Amino acid sequence: MKVLDLKCGQDHSFEGWFASETDFQEQVHKGLLQCPLCGDTGVDKQLSAPRLNLGAKAPRAVGASDEDSLPAANASLEGVTAAVQGAWLALTREIMAHTEDVGERFPEEARRMHSGAAQERAIRGQACAEEIAQLRAEGIPVIPWMVPPALKETLQ
Ligand SMILES: [Zn+2]
Repeated sequence: MKVLDLKCGQDHSFEGWFASETDFQEQVHKGLLQCPLCGDTGVDKQLSAPRLNLGAKAPRAVGASDEDSLPAANASLEGVTAAVQGAWLALTREIMAHTEDVGERFPEEARRMHSGAAQERAIRGQACAEEIAQLRAEGIPVIPWMVPPALKETLQ
């Protein structure tokens, strides 16, 4: 497992787990890698200091407040990362359990629901960044969600 600090074209930082450097390059090349915040596929590696040198001023986990009510607040960055990763996995499983997979018909199905041609329900599927932007422009709420690689394998 290779953990990389990544950054999208909008300057969002996030972490990606890959089998190898080649795996990362391949996913970027195929446009499979998206920013979990905005769906941007212009993802690149962040030039950052090695994580061991991050020390006490390490960046906080996304969403952690200054009061830091997270149980992992005093843990090392690795610990926080593992906790976030675990929450991400759990949340993704939750989403998958409560949504209908419409695969590549996602944009079409989202539009049909929006226009009333199909019953409103929670769906998930694949859409590229452009399609997501287009759906949003039409007033259809869409959340880009990056599926942890560990779960992707079990889905196929
Ligand atoms: Zn982004």
